[in-house]
Amino acid sequence: MPITDEQIKALVNMIASVQPDELDCDACSQHIAEFAETQLLGKTVDESQQAIQTHLENCHCCQAEFNDLLAALKGIEEE
Ligand SMILES: [Zn+2]
Repeated sequence: MPITDEQIKALVNMIASVQPDELDCDACSQHIAEFAETQLLGKTVDESQQAIQTHLENCHCCQAEFNDLLAALKGIEEE
């Protein structure tokens, strides 16, 4: 059976999503508060935080955690 285009795309995506400098969820959650603050204050995302940003784009569970955190931080600011 020949490999379909869809299968090739899936494979390429799988390989592309595994980057050597990518954080795991544990490392991400250790820095997530710092990153949320950076975003909230509109600060520049530095090199180490770019890895967090990349992780958040690819990891739905950390993304959910980040959104919760951001909402909580915004809530504090508005009070
Ligand atoms: Zn994660």
